[in-house]
Amino acid sequence: MPETRNVVIIGSGPAGLTAAIYTSRATLDPLVLEGEPSSTSDQPGGQLMLTTDVENFPGFPEGVMGPELMMNFRAQATRFGAEVQTVKVSKVDLSERPFKIWVGDNEAEPTHLAKTVIVSTGAQSVMLDLPRETELIGHGLSTCATCDGFFFRDQEIAVVGGGDSAIEEATFLTRFASMVHVLVRRDELRASKIMQERAFANPKITFHWNTVVTEYQGDAKLSGIATKSTVDDSVGELAVTGLFIAIGHTPNTGLYVDQLDMHDNGYLKTEPGRTATNIPGVFAAGDVQDSYYRQAITAAGSGCQAAIEAERWLEDQESH
Ligand code: NDP
Repeated sequence: MPETRNVVIIGSGPAGLTAAIYTSRATLDPLVLEGEPSSTSDQPGGQLMLTTDVENFPGFPEGVMGPELMMNFRAQATRFGAEVQTVKVSKVDLSERPFKIWVGDNEAEPTHLAKTVIVSTGAQSVMLDLPRETELIGHGLSTCATCDGFFFRDQEIAVVGGGDSAIEEATFLTRFASMVHVLVRRDELRASKIMQERAFANPKITFHWNTVVTEYQGDAKLSGIATKSTVDDSVGELAVTGLFIAIGHTPNTGLYVDQLDMHDNGYLKTEPGRTATNIPGVFAAGDVQDSYYRQAITAAGSGCQAAIEAERWLEDQESH
């Protein structure tokens, strides 16, 4: 049997690595299972690995590149002794302590045992899956208006989607852009009526109904998109320098189905204002339990909370 670790952290975005910094400085020798680059949207370091400039992370007045920021998080965690393994967790058993964690398939014995587990596996934006999508992220293509809207001052841009996210992002983006085109695949929005009305009244938003994106145009940077009508297949083009994809997010919670309590939207449930899950000793931090803020700084904050909660929980266990 492997040794039982004090803390195993699953996931290595801002939440997981902040938890690693705090738990390593608390001399708990955390193990971070950071994931493996199995696809472009699923790689160690989380969603910031897919962005370019990050200008809203406090402490970087000139901004910082997303991947560089995550390398700094990682270096800070390992400096204090956190062990980071580039592996993908295939199974967890949280039904009894120590918790069991498997890496790889078809293994009878668990790879790791843990007194506490911090789940920080994040969430992914649902993408359109068009060619060159990954290379254009951060070069005109974005999944976060709060993060990237500022870069599109006085430019014509587009948003895909018809839910609350798309309408909220489109409305927010009118602060910067000269025009925001909203591409909706049906002839109506899914978004709440009040947000719809606000968007309909906004002179900087133009709706394109029954319209889908079929192609990204431009070489190193997005310079336009090709579109198609879902009604009569007629085609069109829009010369936009930015395209925000807002068709939903999926939390990475597959490993914990039937073990950890989840909301209807699949995000992990934690105690209000805390990171404790329904299983004592298991904590959830970052986007995997946050469908609302979804920011690097809020994820990092909850990673810190999870570390402190895990540390106190361990102390509490040991004093009984
Ligand atoms: P939703 O699932 O609510 O909406 C997704 C939208 O994207 C739908 O309009 C859907 O179209 C469209 N879509 C899906 N796939 C594609 C595709 N491949 N091509 C084009 N369009 C596509 O996701 P949201 O992220 O908007 O919202 C998630 C949850 O968060 C909701 O419960 C929402 O209410 C909530 N939320 C609330 C906010 C607020 O209250 N301020 C802000 C943001 C989100 P179709 O309608 O045809 O399925």
